[in-house]
Amino acid sequence: METQIFKIESPCADAEALEQAGAIIQNGGLVAFPTETVYGLGGNALDAASSAKIFSAKGRPQDNPLIVHIADMEQLDVLCHDIPDAARALANAYWPGPLTMVLPKNNCLPDTTTAGLDTVGIRMPAHPVARALIRCAGVPIAAPSANRSGKPSTTSFAHVLRDMEGRINAIIDGGKSEVGLESTVIEFDGNRARILRPGYITQEDIEAVLGPGMCLIAPGVREHVADGERVRSPGMKYRHYAPSAPVLAICGEARDVAREMQRRARGHENCAAIICDEYAQALPCRTIACGPQGDYAAQAHRLFDALRQLDRPEIDFILAQCPDEYGLGMAIANRLKRAAAFHVVQARHGCVLGLTGPTGAGKSAACAVFAERGAQILDCDALYHKMLETDETLLKTLYEIFPSAFRDGQFDRHALGKLVFSDPAALAQLNAAVLPLVRTRVETEITRADASGTDVLVLDAPTLFESGIDALCDFTLAVLAPPQLRIARISARDGLDGAYARLRVEGGQDDDFYLTRCDASVVNDGRLETLRAQIQTIWDRLFYGGKKS
Ligand code: AMP
Ligand code: MG
Repeated sequence: METQIFKIESPCADAEALEQAGAIIQNGGLVAFPTETVYGLGGNALDAASSAKIFSAKGRPQDNPLIVHIADMEQLDVLCHDIPDAARALANAYWPGPLTMVLPKNNCLPDTTTAGLDTVGIRMPAHPVARALIRCAGVPIAAPSANRSGKPSTTSFAHVLRDMEGRINAIIDGGKSEVGLESTVIEFDGNRARILRPGYITQEDIEAVLGPGMCLIAPGVREHVADGERVRSPGMKYRHYAPSAPVLAICGEARDVAREMQRRARGHENCAAIICDEYAQALPCRTIACGPQGDYAAQAHRLFDALRQLDRPEIDFILAQCPDEYGLGMAIANRLKRAAAFHVVQARHGCVLGLTGPTGAGKSAACAVFAERGAQILDCDALYHKMLETDETLLKTLYEIFPSAFRDGQFDRHALGKLVFSDPAALAQLNAAVLPLVRTRVETEITRADASGTDVLVLDAPTLFESGIDALCDFTLAVLAPPQLRIARISARDGLDGAYARLRVEGGQDDDFYLTRCDASVVNDGRLETLRAQIQTIWDRLFYGGKKS
Protein backbone atom coordinates (compact mmCIF):
# COMPACT_ATOMS: atom_id res chain seq x y z
CA MET A 1 0.00 0.00 0.00
CA GLU A 2 1.27 3.48 -0.77
CA THR A 3 1.31 5.69 2.30
CA GLN A 4 0.25 9.28 1.67
CA ILE A 5 2.06 11.99 3.67
CA PHE A 6 0.30 15.14 4.88
CA LYS A 7 2.31 17.90 6.49
CA ILE A 8 -0.04 19.73 8.80
CA GLU A 9 1.23 22.49 11.03
CA SER A 10 -2.07 24.01 12.06
CA PRO A 11 -5.70 23.03 11.39
CA CYS A 12 -6.50 26.45 9.90
CA ALA A 13 -3.59 26.68 7.50
CA ASP A 14 -3.89 23.09 6.31
CA ALA A 15 -7.66 22.60 6.29
CA GLU A 16 -7.68 20.87 2.92
CA ALA A 17 -5.15 18.23 3.94
CA LEU A 18 -7.14 17.64 7.13
CA GLU A 19 -10.33 17.12 5.10
CA GLN A 20 -8.55 14.51 3.00
CA ALA A 21 -7.14 12.71 6.03
CA GLY A 22 -10.55 12.78 7.73
CA ALA A 23 -12.15 11.31 4.61
CA ILE A 24 -9.67 8.41 4.63
CA ILE A 25 -10.79 7.49 8.14
CA GLN A 26 -14.45 7.94 7.28
CA ASN A 27 -13.97 5.52 4.37
CA GLY A 28 -12.45 2.83 6.58
CA GLY A 29 -8.74 3.63 6.09
CA LEU A 30 -5.97 4.22 8.63
CA VAL A 31 -4.20 7.53 9.31
CA ALA A 32 -1.34 8.06 11.79
CA PHE A 33 -1.60 11.47 13.45
CA PRO A 34 0.20 13.56 16.05
CA THR A 35 -1.08 13.92 19.59
CA GLU A 36 0.54 15.60 22.59
CA THR A 37 1.37 12.18 24.12
CA VAL A 38 2.67 10.06 21.23
CA TYR A 39 1.62 9.57 17.59
CA GLY A 40 -1.63 7.61 17.21
CA LEU A 41 -2.63 5.08 14.56
CA GLY A 42 -6.23 6.06 13.87
CA GLY A 43 -9.26 4.39 12.35
CA ASN A 44 -13.04 4.72 12.68
CA ALA A 45 -13.82 3.47 16.21
CA LEU A 46 -17.42 2.63 15.24
CA ASP A 47 -16.31 0.30 12.45
CA ALA A 48 -15.13 -3.20 13.37
CA ALA A 49 -13.27 -3.62 10.07
CA SER A 50 -11.26 -0.42 10.69
CA SER A 51 -10.28 -1.60 14.16
CA ALA A 52 -9.25 -4.99 12.79
CA LYS A 53 -6.94 -3.21 10.34
CA ILE A 54 -5.30 -1.33 13.23
CA PHE A 55 -4.52 -4.59 15.03
CA SER A 56 -2.99 -6.10 11.93
CA ALA A 57 -0.97 -3.00 10.90
CA LYS A 58 0.63 -2.93 14.37
CA GLY A 59 0.86 -6.68 14.92
CA ARG A 60 -1.01 -5.99 18.17
CA PRO A 61 -2.31 -8.88 20.33
CA GLN A 62 -6.07 -9.27 19.81
CA ASP A 63 -6.88 -8.90 23.51
CA ASN A 64 -5.30 -5.46 23.92
CA PRO A 65 -8.10 -2.87 23.57
CA LEU A 66 -7.81 0.41 21.65
CA ILE A 67 -8.29 3.85 23.16
CA VAL A 68 -11.12 5.84 21.57
CA HIS A 69 -10.41 9.53 20.92
CA ILE A 70 -13.12 12.18 20.93
CA ALA A 71 -13.13 15.90 20.12
CA ASP A 72 -16.22 17.10 22.00
CA MET A 73 -17.64 16.41 25.44
CA GLU A 74 -21.04 15.36 23.94
CA GLN A 75 -19.40 12.30 22.37
CA LEU A 76 -18.68 10.94 25.85
CA ASP A 77 -22.39 10.27 26.53
CA VAL A 78 -22.88 8.78 23.07
CA LEU A 79 -20.15 6.19 23.63
CA CYS A 80 -20.48 5.45 27.38
CA HIS A 81 -23.07 5.00 30.11
CA ASP A 82 -23.09 5.12 33.91
CA ILE A 83 -20.40 7.78 33.96
CA PRO A 84 -19.40 8.50 37.57
CA ASP A 85 -19.26 12.08 38.83
CA ALA A 86 -15.56 11.61 39.43
CA ALA A 87 -15.05 10.98 35.70
CA ARG A 88 -16.92 14.15 34.78
CA ALA A 89 -14.89 16.13 37.29
CA LEU A 90 -11.64 14.79 35.87
CA ALA A 91 -12.78 15.44 32.30
CA ASN A 92 -13.51 19.04 33.27
CA ALA A 93 -10.09 19.40 34.85
CA TYR A 94 -7.83 17.56 32.41
CA TRP A 95 -9.59 17.31 29.04
CA PRO A 96 -8.46 17.99 26.47
CA GLY A 97 -5.28 16.33 27.72
CA PRO A 98 -3.30 13.14 28.38
CA LEU A 99 -5.89 11.29 30.48
CA THR A 100 -7.77 8.15 29.36
CA MET A 101 -10.79 7.00 31.39
CA VAL A 102 -12.10 3.44 31.22
CA LEU A 103 -15.94 3.54 31.31
CA PRO A 104 -18.87 1.21 30.53
CA LYS A 105 -19.32 1.21 26.77
CA ASN A 106 -22.46 1.61 24.67
CA ASN A 107 -23.39 -0.82 21.89
CA CYS A 108 -22.41 1.57 19.11
CA LEU A 109 -18.80 0.57 19.81
CA PRO A 110 -17.97 -2.81 18.25
CA ASP A 111 -16.26 -5.54 20.28
CA THR A 112 -13.22 -5.46 18.01
CA THR A 113 -12.39 -1.92 19.16
CA THR A 114 -12.52 -2.84 22.87
CA ALA A 115 -11.07 -6.35 22.46
CA GLY A 116 -14.32 -7.86 23.69
CA LEU A 117 -14.48 -5.84 26.92
CA ASP A 118 -17.71 -4.16 28.03
CA THR A 119 -15.71 -1.04 28.87
CA VAL A 120 -13.89 1.45 26.67
CA GLY A 121 -10.91 3.72 27.27
CA ILE A 122 -11.86 7.28 26.21
CA ARG A 123 -9.66 10.33 25.81
CA MET A 124 -9.93 13.81 24.38
CA PRO A 125 -6.48 14.76 23.04
CA ALA A 126 -5.14 18.29 23.46
CA HIS A 127 -3.25 18.42 20.17
CA PRO A 128 -5.21 20.76 17.83
CA VAL A 129 -4.44 18.62 14.76
CA ALA A 130 -5.74 15.48 16.50
CA ARG A 131 -9.02 17.17 17.49
CA ALA A 132 -9.47 18.71 14.06
CA LEU A 133 -8.92 15.29 12.46
CA ILE A 134 -11.61 13.72 14.66
CA ARG A 135 -14.05 16.49 13.66
CA CYS A 136 -13.19 16.10 9.96
CA ALA A 137 -13.64 12.32 10.17
CA GLY A 138 -17.03 12.86 11.82
CA VAL A 139 -16.54 9.75 13.99
CA PRO A 140 -14.61 8.94 17.18
CA ILE A 141 -11.13 7.66 16.30
CA ALA A 142 -9.73 4.43 17.76
CA ALA A 143 -5.99 4.88 18.06
CA PRO A 144 -3.21 2.99 19.79
CA SER A 145 0.33 4.30 19.57
CA ALA A 146 1.59 4.30 15.97
CA ASN A 147 4.42 1.82 16.46
CA ARG A 148 4.91 -1.85 15.63
CA SER A 149 3.67 -3.81 18.62
CA GLY A 150 6.30 -4.22 21.36
CA LYS A 151 8.52 -1.42 20.06
CA PRO A 152 8.93 2.01 21.69
CA SER A 153 6.04 4.35 20.96
CA THR A 154 6.48 6.92 18.21
CA THR A 155 7.05 10.53 19.22
CA SER A 156 8.04 12.00 15.85
CA PHE A 157 7.03 11.74 12.21
CA ALA A 158 10.31 9.96 11.41
CA HIS A 159 9.52 7.22 13.96
CA VAL A 160 6.08 6.64 12.44
CA LEU A 161 7.42 6.58 8.90
CA ARG A 162 9.97 3.94 9.89
CA ASP A 163 7.39 1.65 11.55
CA MET A 164 4.31 2.21 9.40
CA GLU A 165 5.27 3.20 5.86
CA GLY A 166 3.53 0.89 3.39
CA ARG A 167 1.23 -0.53 6.09
CA ILE A 168 -1.32 2.30 6.42
CA ASN A 169 -3.07 4.80 4.14
CA ALA A 170 -1.59 8.06 5.43
CA ILE A 171 0.66 9.73 7.98
CA ILE A 172 0.24 13.30 9.19
CA ASP A 173 3.57 14.97 9.91
CA GLY A 174 2.85 17.29 12.82
CA GLY A 175 6.23 17.65 14.51
CA LYS A 176 7.32 16.16 17.80
CA SER A 177 4.98 14.93 20.54
CA GLU A 178 5.32 17.30 23.45
CA VAL A 179 4.68 14.94 26.37
CA GLY A 180 6.43 11.94 24.84
CA LEU A 181 4.71 9.27 27.00
CA GLU A 182 1.28 7.71 26.44
CA SER A 183 -1.74 8.97 28.37
CA THR A 184 -2.49 8.09 31.97
CA VAL A 185 -5.14 5.31 31.94
CA ILE A 186 -7.56 5.14 34.87
CA GLU A 187 -10.63 3.13 35.78
CA PHE A 188 -13.23 3.81 38.47
CA ASP A 189 -14.50 2.02 41.49
CA GLY A 190 -17.47 4.21 42.33
CA ASN A 191 -15.94 7.65 42.54
CA ARG A 192 -12.47 6.37 43.37
CA ALA A 193 -9.94 6.20 40.53
CA ARG A 194 -7.29 3.56 39.94
CA ILE A 195 -4.29 4.16 37.69
CA LEU A 196 -3.83 1.28 35.23
CA ARG A 197 -1.05 3.00 33.31
CA PRO A 198 0.76 6.05 34.74
CA GLY A 199 1.32 9.04 32.46
CA TYR A 200 1.68 12.79 32.42
CA ILE A 201 -1.42 13.27 34.61
CA THR A 202 -0.12 11.98 37.94
CA GLN A 203 -1.71 10.40 40.99
CA GLU A 204 -1.22 13.77 42.71
CA ASP A 205 -3.05 15.56 39.84
CA ILE A 206 -6.01 13.18 40.13
CA GLU A 207 -6.20 13.47 43.91
CA ALA A 208 -6.12 17.25 43.55
CA VAL A 209 -9.55 16.90 41.91
CA LEU A 210 -11.04 13.85 43.68
CA GLY A 211 -9.50 14.37 47.12
CA PRO A 212 -6.72 12.68 49.07
CA GLY A 213 -6.75 8.87 48.98
CA MET A 214 -9.15 8.85 46.00
CA CYS A 215 -6.62 7.57 43.46
CA LEU A 216 -5.00 4.16 43.83
CA ILE A 217 -2.27 2.53 41.77
CA ALA A 218 -3.15 -0.84 40.22
CA PRO A 219 -0.93 -3.85 40.85
CA GLY A 220 1.43 -4.34 37.91
CA VAL A 221 2.18 -0.64 37.46
CA ARG A 222 5.33 -0.65 39.59
CA GLU A 223 6.08 -4.36 39.67
CA HIS A 224 5.91 -7.41 37.48
CA VAL A 225 2.63 -9.31 37.35
CA ALA A 226 3.22 -13.07 37.26
CA ASP A 227 2.36 -14.87 34.02
CA GLY A 228 -1.20 -16.08 34.04
CA GLU A 229 -2.29 -13.59 36.71
CA ARG A 230 -5.24 -11.41 35.75
CA VAL A 231 -4.53 -7.74 35.07
CA ARG A 232 -7.09 -4.95 34.93
CA SER A 233 -5.59 -3.49 31.77
CA PRO A 234 -4.64 -6.05 29.12
CA GLY A 235 -1.76 -3.90 27.83
CA MET A 236 0.05 -4.29 31.16
CA LYS A 237 1.02 -7.88 30.63
CA TYR A 238 3.14 -7.43 27.51
CA ARG A 239 6.83 -6.61 27.20
CA HIS A 240 6.62 -3.20 25.70
CA TYR A 241 8.52 -0.19 24.48
CA ALA A 242 11.58 -2.37 23.90
CA PRO A 243 14.55 -1.97 21.59
CA SER A 244 16.08 -5.23 20.34
CA ALA A 245 18.96 -5.27 22.85
CA PRO A 246 18.17 -6.16 26.47
CA VAL A 247 17.68 -3.18 28.78
CA LEU A 248 18.76 -2.97 32.43
CA ALA A 249 17.00 -0.27 34.48
CA ILE A 250 19.18 1.13 37.28
CA CYS A 251 17.63 2.96 40.24
CA GLY A 252 19.34 5.16 42.81
CA GLU A 253 21.01 8.54 43.20
CA ALA A 254 22.33 9.85 39.89
CA ARG A 255 25.96 9.75 40.98
CA ASP A 256 25.63 6.13 42.14
CA VAL A 257 23.80 5.19 38.94
CA ALA A 258 26.62 6.73 36.89
CA ARG A 259 29.23 4.74 38.77
CA GLU A 260 27.18 1.55 38.48
CA MET A 261 26.92 2.11 34.72
CA GLN A 262 30.61 2.83 34.40
CA ARG A 263 31.45 -0.47 36.05
CA ARG A 264 28.95 -2.48 34.04
CA ALA A 265 30.03 -0.83 30.78
CA ARG A 266 33.73 -1.45 31.30
CA GLY A 267 35.12 -3.82 28.70
CA HIS A 268 31.84 -3.85 26.75
CA GLU A 269 32.41 -1.74 23.68
CA ASN A 270 28.92 -2.32 22.35
CA CYS A 271 26.87 -1.31 25.32
CA ALA A 272 24.91 1.93 25.50
CA ALA A 273 23.53 4.10 28.28
CA ILE A 274 20.69 6.54 28.90
CA ILE A 275 21.38 8.89 31.80
CA CYS A 276 20.69 12.47 32.89
CA ASP A 277 22.75 15.26 31.28
CA GLU A 278 25.00 15.84 34.28
CA TYR A 279 26.66 12.41 34.06
CA ALA A 280 26.37 11.63 30.36
CA GLN A 281 29.92 12.78 29.62
CA ALA A 282 31.49 10.51 32.22
CA LEU A 283 30.54 7.15 30.70
CA PRO A 284 32.85 5.09 28.51
CA CYS A 285 30.15 3.92 26.09
CA ARG A 286 27.63 5.34 23.64
CA THR A 287 25.46 7.52 25.85
CA ILE A 288 22.23 9.44 25.37
CA ALA A 289 21.67 12.37 27.69
CA CYS A 290 17.99 12.23 28.62
CA GLY A 291 17.59 15.67 30.20
CA PRO A 292 18.61 17.50 33.36
CA GLN A 293 18.64 15.53 36.62
CA GLY A 294 15.17 15.53 38.18
CA ASP A 295 13.55 17.21 35.13
CA TYR A 296 11.07 14.43 34.48
CA ALA A 297 9.14 16.35 31.83
CA ALA A 298 12.32 16.58 29.72
CA GLN A 299 13.12 12.93 30.38
CA ALA A 300 9.60 11.80 29.42
CA HIS A 301 9.82 13.86 26.24
CA ARG A 302 13.06 12.17 25.17
CA LEU A 303 12.68 8.61 26.45
CA PHE A 304 11.17 6.87 23.43
CA ASP A 305 13.45 8.67 21.01
CA ALA A 306 16.43 7.50 23.08
CA LEU A 307 15.18 3.89 23.09
CA ARG A 308 14.64 4.08 19.34
CA GLN A 309 18.09 5.53 18.68
CA LEU A 310 19.56 2.60 20.56
CA ASP A 311 17.45 0.03 18.71
CA ARG A 312 20.42 -1.01 16.58
CA PRO A 313 21.83 -4.46 15.87
CA GLU A 314 25.38 -3.57 16.96
CA ILE A 315 24.27 -2.70 20.50
CA ASP A 316 24.57 -5.62 22.93
CA PHE A 317 22.81 -4.16 25.96
CA ILE A 318 21.42 -0.87 27.25
CA LEU A 319 21.78 0.60 30.74
CA ALA A 320 19.04 3.08 31.60
CA GLN A 321 18.69 5.37 34.60
CA CYS A 322 15.37 4.73 36.31
CA PRO A 323 13.86 7.78 38.08
CA ASP A 324 12.31 7.83 41.54
CA GLU A 325 8.67 6.83 41.32
CA TYR A 326 6.91 9.97 42.39
CA GLY A 327 5.03 12.40 40.16
CA LEU A 328 5.85 11.95 36.50
CA GLY A 329 8.80 9.75 37.54
CA MET A 330 6.30 6.91 38.04
CA ALA A 331 5.33 6.95 34.36
CA ILE A 332 8.93 7.04 33.15
CA ALA A 333 9.93 4.23 35.53
CA ASN A 334 6.90 2.21 34.38
CA ARG A 335 7.91 2.44 30.70
CA LEU A 336 11.56 1.72 31.45
CA LYS A 337 10.80 -1.31 33.60
CA ARG A 338 8.67 -2.74 30.81
CA ALA A 339 11.34 -2.00 28.22
CA ALA A 340 13.69 -3.86 30.57
CA ALA A 341 11.21 -6.75 31.00
CA PHE A 342 11.45 -5.90 34.74
CA HIS A 343 15.19 -6.38 34.82
CA VAL A 344 15.80 -3.70 37.46
CA VAL A 345 18.71 -3.20 39.89
CA GLN A 346 19.51 -0.71 42.63
CA ALA A 347 22.82 1.11 42.08
CA ARG A 348 25.45 0.41 44.65
CA HIS A 349 25.85 3.42 46.93
CA GLY A 350 29.49 3.06 47.92
CA CYS A 351 32.63 2.91 45.81
CA VAL A 352 34.59 -0.33 45.67
CA LEU A 353 38.30 0.00 44.99
CA GLY A 354 40.34 -3.09 44.09
CA LEU A 355 43.90 -2.82 45.31
CA THR A 356 46.54 -5.19 44.01
CA GLY A 357 50.23 -5.45 43.20
CA PRO A 358 53.21 -7.76 43.48
CA THR A 359 54.38 -9.26 46.75
CA GLY A 360 56.36 -6.91 48.96
CA ALA A 361 55.23 -3.71 47.22
CA GLY A 362 53.28 -2.52 50.24
CA LYS A 363 49.58 -3.22 49.69
CA SER A 364 49.06 -3.23 53.45
CA ALA A 365 50.72 0.15 53.84
CA ALA A 366 48.46 1.55 51.10
CA CYS A 367 45.39 0.01 52.78
CA ALA A 368 46.40 1.66 56.05
CA VAL A 369 46.41 5.04 54.29
CA PHE A 370 42.93 4.37 52.87
CA ALA A 371 41.77 3.33 56.35
CA GLU A 372 43.05 6.65 57.74
CA ARG A 373 40.63 8.33 55.34
CA GLY A 374 37.72 6.25 56.62
CA ALA A 375 37.69 3.52 54.00
CA GLN A 376 36.71 0.03 55.06
CA ILE A 377 39.28 -2.65 54.13
CA LEU A 378 38.49 -6.20 53.07
CA ASP A 379 41.55 -8.45 53.05
CA CYS A 380 40.68 -11.03 50.40
CA ASP A 381 43.56 -13.33 51.35
CA ALA A 382 42.41 -13.41 54.95
CA LEU A 383 38.85 -14.01 53.76
CA TYR A 384 40.07 -16.99 51.70
CA HIS A 385 41.93 -18.42 54.68
CA LYS A 386 38.86 -18.05 56.83
CA MET A 387 36.84 -19.81 54.15
CA LEU A 388 39.34 -22.68 54.27
CA GLU A 389 38.38 -23.14 57.90
CA THR A 390 34.66 -22.66 57.73
CA ASP A 391 33.24 -22.73 54.21
CA GLU A 392 31.73 -26.16 53.59
CA THR A 393 31.26 -25.67 49.85
CA LEU A 394 34.89 -24.72 49.47
CA LEU A 395 36.11 -27.64 51.58
CA LYS A 396 33.90 -30.10 49.71
CA THR A 397 35.27 -28.82 46.38
CA LEU A 398 38.84 -29.16 47.61
CA TYR A 399 38.20 -32.66 48.88
CA GLU A 400 36.92 -33.73 45.48
CA ILE A 401 40.05 -32.47 43.69
CA PHE A 402 42.77 -32.99 46.29
CA PRO A 403 41.70 -35.77 48.69
CA SER A 404 45.30 -36.16 49.86
CA ALA A 405 45.23 -32.64 51.31
CA PHE A 406 42.92 -33.99 54.00
CA ARG A 407 44.03 -36.05 57.05
CA ASP A 408 41.32 -37.85 59.01
CA GLY A 409 38.75 -35.70 57.28
CA GLN A 410 40.57 -32.54 58.42
CA PHE A 411 41.89 -30.11 55.83
CA ASP A 412 45.66 -29.60 55.99
CA ARG A 413 46.80 -26.34 54.43
CA HIS A 414 50.46 -27.32 54.32
CA ALA A 415 49.68 -30.58 52.57
CA LEU A 416 47.74 -28.66 49.91
CA GLY A 417 50.61 -26.17 49.62
CA LYS A 418 53.04 -29.00 48.88
CA LEU A 419 50.70 -30.47 46.26
CA VAL A 420 50.42 -27.30 44.22
CA PHE A 421 53.70 -25.53 44.98
CA SER A 422 55.81 -27.17 42.27
CA ASP A 423 52.99 -28.33 39.99
CA PRO A 424 51.59 -25.52 37.80
CA ALA A 425 48.80 -27.76 36.46
CA ALA A 426 47.63 -28.58 39.99
CA LEU A 427 47.82 -24.89 40.94
CA ALA A 428 45.73 -23.96 37.90
CA GLN A 429 43.17 -26.60 38.88
CA LEU A 430 43.06 -25.26 42.43
CA ASN A 431 42.57 -21.69 41.23
CA ALA A 432 39.84 -22.66 38.76
CA ALA A 433 37.88 -24.36 41.53
CA VAL A 434 38.48 -21.92 44.35
CA LEU A 435 38.64 -18.41 42.89
CA PRO A 436 34.99 -18.30 41.73
CA LEU A 437 33.90 -19.26 45.24
CA VAL A 438 36.05 -16.52 46.74
CA ARG A 439 34.68 -14.05 44.22
CA THR A 440 31.10 -14.93 45.17
CA ARG A 441 31.96 -14.48 48.82
CA VAL A 442 33.57 -11.10 48.13
CA GLU A 443 30.42 -10.08 46.28
CA THR A 444 28.37 -10.92 49.36
CA GLU A 445 30.72 -8.87 51.52
CA ILE A 446 30.40 -5.90 49.13
CA THR A 447 26.60 -6.07 49.35
CA ARG A 448 26.81 -6.24 53.12
CA ALA A 449 29.20 -3.27 53.36
CA ASP A 450 26.98 -1.27 51.00
CA ALA A 451 23.87 -2.02 53.05
CA SER A 452 25.63 -0.77 56.17
CA GLY A 453 26.41 2.57 54.48
CA THR A 454 30.11 2.12 53.63
CA ASP A 455 31.23 4.92 51.29
CA VAL A 456 34.55 3.40 50.22
CA LEU A 457 35.43 -0.27 50.43
CA VAL A 458 39.01 -1.26 49.56
CA LEU A 459 39.56 -4.86 48.49
CA ASP A 460 43.11 -5.91 49.29
CA ALA A 461 43.36 -8.58 46.58
CA PRO A 462 46.73 -9.96 45.43
CA THR A 463 44.96 -11.98 42.70
CA LEU A 464 42.46 -9.24 41.78
CA PHE A 465 42.48 -10.04 38.05
CA GLU A 466 43.11 -13.78 38.22
CA SER A 467 40.02 -14.19 40.44
CA GLY A 468 37.78 -11.92 38.38
CA ILE A 469 37.20 -9.74 41.46
CA ASP A 470 38.23 -6.74 39.34
CA ALA A 471 34.83 -6.93 37.63
CA LEU A 472 33.19 -6.15 41.00
CA CYS A 473 35.27 -2.99 41.44
CA ASP A 474 34.56 0.58 40.42
CA PHE A 475 38.23 1.39 40.33
CA THR A 476 41.45 -0.65 40.37
CA LEU A 477 44.76 0.46 41.81
CA ALA A 478 48.22 -1.12 41.59
CA VAL A 479 50.74 -0.67 44.38
CA LEU A 480 54.25 -1.03 42.94
CA ALA A 481 57.76 -0.65 44.39
CA PRO A 482 61.35 -0.95 43.17
CA PRO A 483 62.50 -4.64 43.27
CA GLN A 484 65.34 -3.93 45.72
CA LEU A 485 62.92 -2.52 48.25
CA ARG A 486 60.52 -5.43 47.79
CA ILE A 487 63.31 -7.98 48.34
CA ALA A 488 64.40 -6.22 51.50
CA ARG A 489 60.81 -6.07 52.79
CA ILE A 490 60.05 -9.72 52.09
CA SER A 491 63.29 -10.81 53.79
CA ALA A 492 62.46 -8.81 56.88
CA ARG A 493 58.75 -9.65 56.94
CA ASP A 494 58.92 -13.38 56.26
CA GLY A 495 62.43 -14.07 57.66
CA LEU A 496 63.79 -15.21 54.29
CA ASP A 497 67.37 -14.94 53.08
CA GLY A 498 68.08 -12.46 50.30
CA ALA A 499 68.49 -14.98 47.47
CA TYR A 500 65.21 -16.72 48.27
CA ALA A 501 63.38 -13.41 48.59
CA ARG A 502 64.80 -12.40 45.18
CA LEU A 503 63.41 -15.65 43.70
CA ARG A 504 59.96 -14.84 45.08
CA VAL A 505 60.07 -11.36 43.60
CA GLU A 506 61.28 -12.55 40.21
CA GLY A 507 58.77 -15.42 40.15
CA GLY A 508 55.75 -13.09 40.39
CA GLN A 509 54.03 -10.92 37.77
CA ASP A 510 56.05 -7.97 36.50
CA ASP A 511 54.93 -4.35 36.89
CA ASP A 512 53.55 -4.26 33.36
CA PHE A 513 51.00 -6.90 34.25
CA TYR A 514 49.46 -4.45 36.73
CA LEU A 515 50.06 -1.25 34.79
CA THR A 516 48.18 -2.50 31.73
CA ARG A 517 45.19 -3.67 33.77
CA CYS A 518 44.72 -1.13 36.56
CA ASP A 519 43.00 2.27 36.35
CA ALA A 520 45.86 3.85 38.31
CA SER A 521 49.06 3.00 40.15
CA VAL A 522 51.08 4.32 43.06
CA VAL A 523 54.77 3.72 43.75
CA ASN A 524 55.69 2.94 47.32
CA ASP A 525 59.25 4.18 47.79
CA GLY A 526 59.15 3.44 51.48
CA ARG A 527 58.13 6.92 52.62
CA LEU A 528 54.66 7.16 54.06
CA GLU A 529 54.27 10.81 53.05
CA THR A 530 54.76 10.13 49.34
CA LEU A 531 52.29 7.25 49.55
CA ARG A 532 49.75 9.49 51.29
CA ALA A 533 50.14 12.20 48.65
CA GLN A 534 49.59 9.75 45.79
CA ILE A 535 46.53 8.25 47.46
CA GLN A 536 45.06 11.72 48.02
CA THR A 537 45.02 12.16 44.22
CA ILE A 538 43.36 8.77 43.72
CA TRP A 539 40.77 9.51 46.42
CA ASP A 540 39.70 12.68 44.61
CA ARG A 541 39.17 10.69 41.41
CA LEU A 542 36.89 8.20 43.14
CA PHE A 543 34.05 10.65 43.43
CA TYR A 544 32.50 12.53 40.59
CA GLY A 545 32.88 16.21 41.23
CA GLY A 546 34.98 15.46 44.30
CA LYS A 547 31.87 15.64 46.50
CA LYS A 548 33.27 13.42 49.22
CA SER A 549 36.97 14.28 49.37
P1 AMP B 1 -1.96 1.91 23.55
O1 AMP B 1 -3.10 1.87 22.63
O2 AMP B 1 -0.75 1.18 23.05
O3 AMP B 1 -1.65 3.29 24.04
O4 AMP B 1 -2.44 1.10 24.83
C1 AMP B 1 -3.70 1.38 25.39
C2 AMP B 1 -3.72 0.99 26.82
O5 AMP B 1 -4.96 1.27 27.42
C3 AMP B 1 -3.48 -0.50 26.98
O6 AMP B 1 -2.64 -0.74 28.08
C4 AMP B 1 -4.87 -1.02 27.23
O7 AMP B 1 -4.82 -2.23 27.94
C5 AMP B 1 -5.51 0.13 28.02
N1 AMP B 1 -6.96 0.08 27.83
C6 AMP B 1 -7.65 0.51 26.77
N2 AMP B 1 -8.97 0.25 26.92
C7 AMP B 1 -9.11 -0.38 28.10
C8 AMP B 1 -10.20 -0.94 28.80
N3 AMP B 1 -11.43 -0.92 28.32
N4 AMP B 1 -9.99 -1.52 29.99
C9 AMP B 1 -8.73 -1.55 30.48
N5 AMP B 1 -7.66 -1.06 29.86
C10 AMP B 1 -7.83 -0.48 28.68
MG1 MG C 1 1.30 1.42 22.63
